[in-house]
Order: sequence, then C-alpha cells, then structure tokens
Amino acid sequence: MSNFTSEIESIFSDKGLLSKLPDFEYRKPQQDMAVQIAESLEDGTHFIVEAPTGVGKSFAYLVPSVIFSKTEKRKAIISTCTINLQEQLIKKDIPALQKVLPYEFKPEILKGRHNYICTKRLNNALIKKNNLFVDAEQEQLEKIYNHVQVTGQGTRQDIPFKIDENVWSQIFAEEGVCTSKSCGSENSNCFFQQAKVKLKDADLIILNHYLFFTLFGFYERKSSGYLFADDFAVFDESHQIEQIAAENVSPSVTKQQIRFWLYRLYNPKTQKGFLANQRFSSLANEINGILSENEYFFDEIEQILNSFRKNQFDNMIRVREPIIISDTYERTLKGLAESILNLVPRAKTDDEESELKNYHTKCSAFANTINCFVNQKLDDHVYWAEFSGRARSNTELCMSPIDMADYFRNNVFTENRLSVMTSATLSISKSLHFFKRSIGAEMVKESILDPVFDYPNQMTIYIPKNIPEPKQKQLEKVSDFFEQSEYEKNLKEKIFEYITMTNGGALVLFTNSRLLRQMYEELHEKLTEAGIDVYAQGDGMPKHKLLNDFKKNINSVLFGVASFWMGVDVPGSSLRNVIITKLPFDVPDHPIIEAKIEAIVKRGGNPFMELSLPSAILKFKQGTGRLIRNKTDKGILVILDSRVINKFYGKMFINSLPECEIVVEE
Ligand code: SF4
Repeated sequence: MSNFTSEIESIFSDKGLLSKLPDFEYRKPQQDMAVQIAESLEDGTHFIVEAPTGVGKSFAYLVPSVIFSKTEKRKAIISTCTINLQEQLIKKDIPALQKVLPYEFKPEILKGRHNYICTKRLNNALIKKNNLFVDAEQEQLEKIYNHVQVTGQGTRQDIPFKIDENVWSQIFAEEGVCTSKSCGSENSNCFFQQAKVKLKDADLIILNHYLFFTLFGFYERKSSGYLFADDFAVFDESHQIEQIAAENVSPSVTKQQIRFWLYRLYNPKTQKGFLANQRFSSLANEINGILSENEYFFDEIEQILNSFRKNQFDNMIRVREPIIISDTYERTLKGLAESILNLVPRAKTDDEESELKNYHTKCSAFANTINCFVNQKLDDHVYWAEFSGRARSNTELCMSPIDMADYFRNNVFTENRLSVMTSATLSISKSLHFFKRSIGAEMVKESILDPVFDYPNQMTIYIPKNIPEPKQKQLEKVSDFFEQSEYEKNLKEKIFEYITMTNGGALVLFTNSRLLRQMYEELHEKLTEAGIDVYAQGDGMPKHKLLNDFKKNINSVLFGVASFWMGVDVPGSSLRNVIITKLPFDVPDHPIIEAKIEAIVKRGGNPFMELSLPSAILKFKQGTGRLIRNKTDKGILVILDSRVINKFYGKMFINSLPECEIVVEE
C-alpha cells in the first residue's frame, strides 16, 4: 500500500480523522471505496464503483480527490446530476471536511456563463435601451442595473425578481462577446471573469453533468484533462450520464428559438434590437422578410412531419428519410450570417464587433442544424421531431447519436484523462456489464460494494400474485383513454389496501401520468375519508413543495411518476411504504430507443434482453431504493405487477433487490 492509500485508509478508520465529525460511524464499504478511488487516482486508471445507499459515497470520493488534488496540483472536477446533491456537497460535506482534513483546499461552484451578467453588455444595453427595449423592459433593465450597483451581485440567481427573457438575452455573458482588449483582464469588474479567476485557484470544482458536457463539447480533443489542463473528474449519480451527455452534445432547433433570436437583431413591431442602430439599418430592413420565411419554413416542415404522424396523440415522430423541401430558408440564414459579417467594418467599438461576430456564429449554427436535420447529414444518428405546447403546435427538430459508447471511449475514457464514476444503481445481478457497455467502458476497472443496511430487518417485500398483468394500451381513439383494463380495475383496490396497511407514509410510483391521474381521481376521496391526505405530481405544485408537504404530513401519500423514481430522499418514518405500480419498461416509442433496438436487431442481438430488460431493472432499483435511506428506516415494498413472479425475467428484478423477506399474497 502506498503512503497515499494508507493515509486514506487511516482517515476512514474508526479512530481516524473523520471520527471527529459528530455523525461519523465506521463503515467498511466506505473505507474500501475511498481506498479503491485513491488507488485508481494514483495509478492514473479510470474507475467505476457502485456504492449502495448508506455507504457515504460523497466522503469516499471527496477525501481522496482533495488530497490527490493538493499533492499532485491537479484540479478535481466533481460532477453531479441533481441540485440536491450539489447543495449537500457545498453546504454540508465540504465544510465538514474543511474542519478535519489537514489540507487547506478551495472549492468553487461552476455555473454556465449564461448565468452571469456581462457588465459590458449591461452598460451597452443601458446606452441603447431606446433602440433595444419597449418601456416595461427598459424599467426592468434599470432595476437590474441598480441591483447590481447596490449589492455587487452579478448572477441571474442573485436577482430577486423575475427577469424577462428578452432583457436577459441582451445582458448575459454570451459566448463570443469577450475581448481581451476591452475587458478580459483579471482585475476587471466582470462577474464572469471574476468567477473564472476564482476557478483558477480552486482545487475542487463542483458542477452538474449538463454543464460538464456542454462545456466539454462533442468533438474529440487531444489535450489532457476535461475542462482544465490535467484535471480529473468524479461523476456522482452517473446512472444517467449516457442520456445527459447525448442530450447536451446534440443540437436541436425550433421556430420560436429562431424567431426570438431574430427579434434580438431587430423586432419590426417595436423597431428595437441590435440593428436599430443607423449604421446597421440596411440589414434591419431585411429581418421582416426573414421572420416570414421562418414561419413559412416551419409551417411547411410541420405539414410534412404531420403526414408522418400516426395519430393525434403522438408528441414525437421519427424522421427516417431526408426531407424533400426547398433549401431556400437555409440559404437565407447563411446569407444573413454573411451579411452580419459584412457589417463588422462598420462597428465603432470592440463590443459591437464581437456582438456582430457572435450573431454571425449563431446564425450559421441555425443554418447548419437545419441542413443536418433535413438532409440527415450525420452518420449513426437518429432524427426526430417533438411537438409541444397548445395543440402540439411547437415543433422541435432533434437529432442524437444512436450509441454514445464511442463518444465516451474517445473523449472520457482516454489514456491521458482520469475519471471516477459512481452511483447507488449501476449493477444488474451483480454485474456492471450493461452500464459499462452503454458508455464504452468495457475495459474500465470496476467495483461493487456491499450494502450497509440490515435489509432483512428493515424491509419486507409484498407481491400480490393474482393481480392481472398490465398490458400496453392501444390509443387509437379518444375513448381508449378512458377505458379501464382489468389491471387498472384491480390496481386501485390494491393501492388502497397497501396504503392503509401502513396508514399512509407511502410513495406510489407510476410509469405514466395518465394512470397516475386516473388513480388519483378514483382514490383521493376514499383516502381522505380514511384520514390520509394525497399529494400528486401534476397538481401544479413544484416537486420540492410536494416533497416537503409529504415529509411533514406523516400519514400522507405521494403519487409520482418519472423523476420521483430517483429524486426522492425522505429518511425517517414519513416514508415507510413504496408501491411500484408497474415494472418500469420504457415504451419503445422514443426514437432513440427505437433506433437502439434496430441497431441491436441488425447485429443479430436480442433487444429485450440487451436493452429493455436491463434499463427497466435499473429504473426499478432506483424506485425501490427510495424506501430505506438510513439504518433506522423500516418499511414495506409493494410490487403490484405480477410479471415479477409470473414471467421468466421476473426473478432478475427480484435478484436486483437486497436480500429480505418476500411475502407473495394470494
Ligand atoms: S469579459 Fe466578457 S462577460 Fe465580462 S464584461 Fe467583458 S464581455 Fe462581458
């Protein structure tokens, strides 16, 4: 064992430095995890570790990261998925470690630059406010300016009132507007530059996966390190990393985005915008026509896409072939980009020059995205359109790589970089194969830690054997929405029965919002009469408020879908019952999933075993993991999907759970 790893082992021992912290208790899996991470950092090898709930994984990666960062002078990037975890790291874990570790270290949070006010743009916007904004916007701009002057604060989150998007778009620290000549010095009063300077000195940088992949970008880079020279990265909550990376490295475009951006250049109705300046007014006159072309292009493409829609309920459709549509609009956008560039010699200041260059880059990007989508330019990508808003009339043109494995192999797990990935939910039947394959990490060193909780004494699983199996509903006409299947008729009785078994304190997890609403409508009165309040996602209440009310109201129940399968952490007796209404198989209607399935079939594989089943098991583990959050928690897990005992694959779900008593009810 090296000095580094033995130092780590000692810090996590029962009388080590961490034992000075009030809540510390010795946990062998935590110590193992910290030592394993220290070894991989020291060896320069990538590492993936599954750490079940209760291991204390944040300390287990923070301590070796801090010490390695200090001794090797390499920045540690800590990337998380949720704000909750970021807050826990910043407000609780890191301050605790600063008290006990014999190393002084500097943590910083990294926010995306779109969160910072650009003082140069703010000042310019004030000077040109008559050109840029209508009266109400001008007032808001002045309010922002005063707030910045009085408080010295300069991020969007610091402004205590709602900011209009049009105002914000003219004052945030947009990419491409900084010039070293005008304001790039380290002593500038620029909030964004000041934040960057702080990052230079930081040892530990906290950010989220979304920002990480946006900053890191899509294309292969040769330099060592991810965001800073020679840095190393720890990805917590890495179970969603493939999806987040795919979302952030794939461009998409909507009519509204382009319209909004064109209005920033010049809004013919208000006669405001960057081009309202006399020197640029020749181009301002053209914007009206381009706005009309924007509407016309998207109307035309929507008509073509609508002809691909199988029914009115589709909120997305796959686009399998290049679309036959005139390229006039793409050429118009390219022409506009060119014309903007031609205005550069008329710029009187560096600021104007950099704004123009920035408009040029953005306009070229719109043209490229449209070109890629319409002509399906990128190999191994899937193309689709999403419809949202009233009457599903907002159309987003989207594309994404089908398989992210190569991206991770060529960018994240390279020899000259160093990363650790962890989560409580990565393995299936004690194997990390599925997760590793999805991110091209087949060769990466791995570890699966033992659970720390006493599950046989803390959790009992209930499975009613005779509940009919859920079947996929065919939604062809409006009445199909309202027709109840045998499964749905039985489901409401079973939900009620098991909720009353623990007198509330239950989280009921659904796989779709329609069924959640239906069960809520049918049960909430009956439950209220029984003295059990019901909170349901979709009531218009934000998630954190729902969770707070549920926590405080000890005999209540919470109905949730989607993010509630993974984002709920309610230790204690408020949550003593988790009810899984249905095994969370993804409906293979998302174009990315569909394209993945086709790729598996094409190479002779079995998409159910290779994709649908493992994805569902991981989501199931996430959901069931909401129940036992600390060593004193006790409760029941109810599975209202009889496929878990009647189908050949059912035992793979059961085997993915920690060992405990299982009661199969007739
Ligand atoms: S450095 Fe960039 S973000 Fe900062 S004030 Fe200058 S232009 Fe704005």
